[in-house]
Amino acid sequence: MSEFQTHPVPANFKDAHINAEKYQAMYKRSIEDPEGFFGEMASEFLSWDQPWDSVVNYDFVKGEAAWFSGGKLNVSYNCIDRHLPERADQTALIWEGDDPADSKHITYGELKEQVCKLANVLKARGVQKGDRVCIYMPMIPEAAYAMLACTRIGAVHSIVFGGFSPEALKDRILDSDCQTVITADEGVRGGRSVPLKVNADKALQSCPNVHTCLVVERTGNDVNWVEGRDQWYHELMAGADADCAPEPMDSEDPLFILYTSGSTGKPKGVLHTTGGYLLQAAMTFKYVFDYREGEVYWCTADVGWVTGHTYIVYGPLANGAISLMFEGVPTYPDAGRCWEVVDKHQVNTFYTAPTAIRALMAVGDEPVTRSSRSSLRLLGTVGEPINPEAWEWYHRVVGDERCPIIDTWWQTETGAHMITPLPGAVDLKPGSATFPFFGVELALLNEDGSEVEGAGSGYLVVKSSWPSQIRSVYGDHQRMIDTYFSNYAGYYFTGDGATRDEDGYYWITGRVDDVLNVSGHRMGTAEVESALVLHDKIAEAAVVGFPHDIKGQGIYAYVTPMAGVEPDDDLRAELIQLCVKEIGPIAKPDIIQWAPGLPKTRSGKIMRRILRKIAENELDSLGDTSTLADPSVVDHLVANKLS
Ligand code: ATP
Ligand code: MG
Repeated sequence: MSEFQTHPVPANFKDAHINAEKYQAMYKRSIEDPEGFFGEMASEFLSWDQPWDSVVNYDFVKGEAAWFSGGKLNVSYNCIDRHLPERADQTALIWEGDDPADSKHITYGELKEQVCKLANVLKARGVQKGDRVCIYMPMIPEAAYAMLACTRIGAVHSIVFGGFSPEALKDRILDSDCQTVITADEGVRGGRSVPLKVNADKALQSCPNVHTCLVVERTGNDVNWVEGRDQWYHELMAGADADCAPEPMDSEDPLFILYTSGSTGKPKGVLHTTGGYLLQAAMTFKYVFDYREGEVYWCTADVGWVTGHTYIVYGPLANGAISLMFEGVPTYPDAGRCWEVVDKHQVNTFYTAPTAIRALMAVGDEPVTRSSRSSLRLLGTVGEPINPEAWEWYHRVVGDERCPIIDTWWQTETGAHMITPLPGAVDLKPGSATFPFFGVELALLNEDGSEVEGAGSGYLVVKSSWPSQIRSVYGDHQRMIDTYFSNYAGYYFTGDGATRDEDGYYWITGRVDDVLNVSGHRMGTAEVESALVLHDKIAEAAVVGFPHDIKGQGIYAYVTPMAGVEPDDDLRAELIQLCVKEIGPIAKPDIIQWAPGLPKTRSGKIMRRILRKIAENELDSLGDTSTLADPSVVDHLVANKLS
């Protein structure tokens, strides 16, 4: 699949939690005997108030799944209280502020107090078990307190990314009928303030059911105030009791709603429940990152994304780990920030997105190499296919060839990692997410729904339920069935395409609707993009198909040169040659448009559906752009469109 070399398990991972033999044996058992396997795991990883009646029941036709039914547990108890006997004074969260001079440590004991107080504040405002609470916050510890306080009393949180507009916030509040909103006066990111309360005020004009807007004072600047509805967080916390008994929840009680990032269409309110979600979050955190007692772990995601839910808060805290939460951005005050933070807090595991890696790579090695990074043991990535070029840079420059790169494939809907290397068990191939996690039974389907045998490519589907599976699309169960369970009966449809090589490794080729069909040859947009970014003058590329009279589909490439590069026709010709050499003449882009920026979701994913519309000249129907990070990018691309 790739001319890049395979990286064997590093020597310092030979004693990892899971080695190759263990992986094989545990994986086999997890598929053949899920009741036995996950029953044992649920007892090992979680504390239950009441045992379950049955481990798993599911029906993919009706889109139903239940794990540990009848079992009772509380998420905040599992993430906090049960660790207190040995960890009350151990750090739970390290908070690193936007300003490099700002940071603090929050112990498990302090976390318990803050969460209980906030839970009591919510109760006093009338929030009850099952009520939805919208969290619209910057990356400050109060965001984690808010999540955990909801779980303490059985309220269902719906986090909306703090970078979203009033419009996007309003839609999400209304869709899940949240009646309580927790926000801050302002956020701070990259040295600039983000007007959260102003945005919330605008959104709430159209949300008459919201009775409480709890406001954390982050910057202290003046904000508008609606008497009765608006309440200062610090004022209510000051009078709150620091004890709050955890509400015993049924394993299948709702835990949170989270809207997908909207790369392919209108965001869906993905509903997750309690026991199965927390189990897979906890298991994957421990095994995938090979987490060791006392290590400092840093996931750069925002809590507004599923990655922030599962791998900043729930997975790490369920394991009693030390999780770093970062308020800022990787490029502020400059492109060396991440590595400064790594040295400052002696970070052992660093988990980020390919888009961040490519952005840092485009700036050059110096901001990285001026730091030590000697504490790093493992590097992770999530969110998009990582092109082998970026993988190698991450491995060589950031990890000094010492740290395995763990490429984790999963979705908001899957709740936790699904395809990922376990660092002590799997030899790595750059660009491959490698093998399924325990309990994840995969298949690749042909167009006609038959399963691909052995090596080959197809639609990536899951054949049986896994614990942290999506339970519903909030308020629209039929949409859940239509989206995930009706394309191919009996399978969960991921919407992604993948290739399985001769060694059984999985390579995600991108979204199914991103597959190109040029003169009858099918290829993933990711393949062409990977070829384009091999060129050392190219930072990023996005490829889409467009109608072509002869070939059926032609290839339209939007290409971002490295900083300081003046693109010209020679560069264009070199890129075309590169695609021919790497993939074949069939992969020659018909059009290459220079793009100083690409339209991305707030979580950094390229929105190809918009690029497709531009390439197809359908400029009036660009669709929902409310989740775009920078809408002006689109105007630039439209103005400079080549036809
Ligand atoms: P929507 O479903 O609304 O279009 P979205 O799919 O972008 O939004 P997420 O759930 O945040 O929302 O993203 C999941 C998708 O991200 C996966 O389906 C896949 O396309 C991509 N992805 C995530 N991790 C990886 C990875 N390691 N390799 C390749 N692709 C990945
Ligand atoms: Mg999706």
